Amino acid sequence: MTATRTPTALVPAAEPAATVAVRMEQPFISITDLSVVYETRSNESLVAVDKVNLNVNDGEFCVIVGPSGCGKSTLLKVLAGLVAANSGQTRIGGESVAAPRDDIGFVFQSATLLPWMTILENVLLPLKVQNRPNRAGWRTHGMELLKIVGLEDFANRYPSELSGGMQQRVGMARALAHDPSLLLMDEPFGALDALTRESMNAELQRIWMLRPKTVLFVTHSISEAVFLADRIIVMSARPGRVIADVAVDLPRPRDVAILDSPRFTEYSREVRSHLYAREAT
Ligand code: ADP
Repeated sequence: MTATRTPTALVPAAEPAATVAVRMEQPFISITDLSVVYETRSNESLVAVDKVNLNVNDGEFCVIVGPSGCGKSTLLKVLAGLVAANSGQTRIGGESVAAPRDDIGFVFQSATLLPWMTILENVLLPLKVQNRPNRAGWRTHGMELLKIVGLEDFANRYPSELSGGMQQRVGMARALAHDPSLLLMDEPFGALDALTRESMNAELQRIWMLRPKTVLFVTHSISEAVFLADRIIVMSARPGRVIADVAVDLPRPRDVAILDSPRFTEYSREVRSHLYAREAT
């Protein structure tokens, strides 16, 4: 969708132009005509997402906003291989998603840490579950991640000893433990108070700049979306469809002062107008 096109005149003559065009334009994530229908307990069919098309480039920070129940989480679950689509195609790195993948990090609204494990053990859990090699290096790796999220002094503490914001940082470190190529974040800061949420957004941006990844981040908050995104995908109410795709061209790193800038306000207004225009129809 946003891939740069190479002018045909620059394509070497020996390589067929069509092949080059496909390779140049292949996005990291490609979702084509994706529909998901749930069977409810009362045996009704509920269309959660309807013919969604979305391409995301490698390394892009893409934020999805939309009304509650429009299928944002469903979209992430399809990408993670946790929910099967009824029709359409989902590809990551050119491969069709058919089952749960181990090259994805998932951060949920609740940190979902295991209370009987220390913070470091929680961070290392994906390596254990995936039976990754180099066990001797795990601890150093985990401590590096805890340092990145500013919690190296809490490695031997337990989740109940940490605040909600700190627990979410552990959740981020855990999601990065197996060095995934894709980070899926489903309202990770939705349960935090407004001030903590703002500082977590700045934290996330810092971590993402240190460890660049393709990110798909779901939120209800327009300012969170503008602060974090390279691109904002706006979805309609259920059945969710993509109704706008807004490129956010603000310099990074962004700090909280940017929230008061005219360009920030302009982007927020644009996203809001798409959300409310749809509601009014
Ligand atoms: P969002 O993340 O945008 O709030 P969801 O993807 O969680 O939306 O849900 C989209 C719609 O699908 C909602 O109406 C929700 O009630 C419904 N839904 C989600 N999961 C299931 C499920 N497992 N079974 C039946 N309906 C579901």
